[in-house]
Amino acid sequence: MSNRHLICCAAALAGALAAPQAARADGRAALQAACWAPSALAARPGERTPVRLSRPASMRVPNVAGVQEAPTRAAIAGAVRRVALPPGRKLVALTFDLCETPGETAGYDGAIVDYLRSQRIKATFFAGGQWMASHKARTGQLLSDPLFEIGTHGWAHRNTRLLGGAELKREILAPSLVYAAIRTELGQAQCAAPHAASFSAIPARPALFRFPFGACNAAGLQAAADHGLVAIQWDVSTGDPSPGQSARAIADLMIRNARPGSIIIAHANGRGYHTAAALPLAIPALKAKGFEFVTVSELLAAGKPVVTDTCYDSRPGDTDKYDFLLGRRLSSSLPREPSPDHARAAPTLPR
Ligand SMILES: [Zn+2]
Repeated sequence: MSNRHLICCAAALAGALAAPQAARADGRAALQAACWAPSALAARPGERTPVRLSRPASMRVPNVAGVQEAPTRAAIAGAVRRVALPPGRKLVALTFDLCETPGETAGYDGAIVDYLRSQRIKATFFAGGQWMASHKARTGQLLSDPLFEIGTHGWAHRNTRLLGGAELKREILAPSLVYAAIRTELGQAQCAAPHAASFSAIPARPALFRFPFGACNAAGLQAAADHGLVAIQWDVSTGDPSPGQSARAIADLMIRNARPGSIIIAHANGRGYHTAAALPLAIPALKAKGFEFVTVSELLAAGKPVVTDTCYDSRPGDTDKYDFLLGRRLSSSLPREPSPDHARAAPTLPR
């Protein structure tokens, strides 16, 4: 039943997971204000630009070997492309990938985040484990923001179609460990002490996963589901990784292709070349068409996810090309197993 679209019946469970978080989310604003001045939240010059490394960074990879399987599988099996909503509801989810590969320190496109905050627009960020490790403060700021949700996006942006066993588990699960560690560190900070209730509004672990390159196979989908992660694709692609894609073109794609329940993909790691300039063109136009912006978890809770049993960009098979391009190079650029030093510290995921 390759590529068959399914209307999944798990929305009720997804809603049960998402609704309490949404209801408590506003409490996070006080925590964020206590821990960061507005100037620290704002974009900084130069931070958007990725930095190529002459040697791969020797970044600590969390050891996932001792981490137990999630007590419950993800509520949704397969890859979510969009959500079918009840008639009259015009919700849409903006998503921004924060990819980082071993050969670089990726950027943080603060102009995007600043604009979303200024307009009170909700969004979901899919952050790579390596990106979170190299952007701990930014990750904490996004976690503490009631507008935003963080899902994960692989450890080192490896093509999971080329991985198996321990390597596949590490690529999918290691970002959850970094997320949990940064969340814990935030909760232990002095600034957070008076805001324990607000801190509890930050989900203890991520619930959403986006496959690097938008490419997956059955084993990857199974591994994500086994760790309680719902795979999120998209039905509206901005094409923003292309330097030739103008802000006007990105905005027009968003305005023309978004429909109720859509999930829009863009990038906030400095590889979305004109994304920040496109948002002030697209978002007011979408608002004028009656759309409301929500996080992916809120979108899932509002309807029935449209799920496929494979991952793709615009048509089935179109991301398989990465098996023969970047995927093998990236896969071969990492150590095969964590070093013994890493193996001594087996972090655990909060339940
Ligand atoms: Zn990516």
